[in-house]
Amino acid sequence: MFDDYKDLLGDAAARAERYISSLPEREVFPTDKAIEALEKLDKPLPERGTAPRQVLAMLDTIGSPATVASAGPRYFGFVTGGALPATLAANWLASAWDQNAFSDVSSPVATAIEAITAKWLLDILDLPRGSGVSFVTGATMANFTCLAAARGAQLKKLGWDVEADGLFGAPLLDVVVSEESHAAVVKALGMLGLGRNRVRSVSTDGQGRMLAEKLPPLSAHSIVCLQAGNVNSGSSDPFGAICDMANRAGAWTHVDGAFGLWANAAPKRAPLVAGIEQASSWATDGHKWLNVPYDCGIAFVSDPVALKRAVAISAAYLPDNDGRQPLDYTPESSRRARGIEVWAALSSLGREGVADLVERNCVHAQRLARRLRNGGLNILNEVSLNQVLVASGDADSTRRLLQRIQSDRTCWCGGTEWRNQPAIRLSVSSWATQDVDIKRTADRIVELAQHN
Ligand SMILES: *Cc1c(COP(=O)(O)O)cnc(C)c1O
Repeated sequence: MFDDYKDLLGDAAARAERYISSLPEREVFPTDKAIEALEKLDKPLPERGTAPRQVLAMLDTIGSPATVASAGPRYFGFVTGGALPATLAANWLASAWDQNAFSDVSSPVATAIEAITAKWLLDILDLPRGSGVSFVTGATMANFTCLAAARGAQLKKLGWDVEADGLFGAPLLDVVVSEESHAAVVKALGMLGLGRNRVRSVSTDGQGRMLAEKLPPLSAHSIVCLQAGNVNSGSSDPFGAICDMANRAGAWTHVDGAFGLWANAAPKRAPLVAGIEQASSWATDGHKWLNVPYDCGIAFVSDPVALKRAVAISAAYLPDNDGRQPLDYTPESSRRARGIEVWAALSSLGREGVADLVERNCVHAQRLARRLRNGGLNILNEVSLNQVLVASGDADSTRRLLQRIQSDRTCWCGGTEWRNQPAIRLSVSSWATQDVDIKRTADRIVELAQHN
């Protein structure tokens, strides 16, 4: 039975190593031909099985060429980390373990590692040490989890038990977002019955930071959604001023810090998110700036009981006297042991290595911006974190340049809208990006812009 594994994992490792070593030089976006070849997989459901080695060979031969080289050094699309070597290797071993991470009965090792990792994360991100920590699929679910806790905690203060009695007839909550809030936050509000549109939207400054003086009056009815790391400009809201006001009024402050929260792990960038520890909850990703494989998001809630009330499987959840049970902290029950790659990342990098990774990406973003500006392009944001917004003359010319960059495939970046104008967005978020990649990317973009 287990003979099927013989040579199979070695073959998978050899193929994966070959793939990874091709990343620095291969085209960053697959060719049209490679994408068309995916049709070869579109056969009727097989009646009879195929040997595992052949299944793997098919996946590699047809699948690998059609991948986006987002684990490589010159992928600057969205906000995308690669996978640190220790995290990929840990992921393989953990997949072999195939643990169900919901409790210490289903997996002592997954439960123990998640508890340790939760403490390490609060330490490295410098968040209140007693906070509840939840390992989820991404920042969308992390925002959802935090905002579920926020909803329950605020309504509890108003004498309503939303987990037991639902939202019908509940006191009204007043949700405040910024005009620059990420769509994932708005989606989470929709899923929670708080309404995508039932929000007050606060205006922002030129970098997309919420204007504290434009906040409406706050109270125990309020949930204020803040942001560390605007997905376009990289800017963060003024947490100190806003949390001060909100905390005095009994409002809940939630921070979407999908990547920006990691600024707090790098001493030179931490001032950009000063005061962030005063918020009530924080959402972040592991698969972005920490460079663990997909998928991994993390929710932090300063009041762990509010988190448990919102997501524990039983309303009579137990105190942690018998140890932290993962299923009391996450919307899911059965799930993979997502904390293991986070543990591997923090173990292999250490506090210094994480600070280094964040700092290096920020310095590279600044260097990229400088080279592009010297090459005649416009940089639309203050590059203080890892995001660079670029325009080339008018809107049409910017769109045309983006198209040329994308079909050139030396690097990959996406387009966005910034202050009503199309922009090219480059996000430097991978451990794999080096000086040569920044130079090569900038030189190529400038060259393409000259013939645009
Ligand atoms: C990426 C991102 C999200 C969504 O995160 P997922 O991991 O895709 O769920 C939310 N907010 C911000 C600011 C982001 O950058």
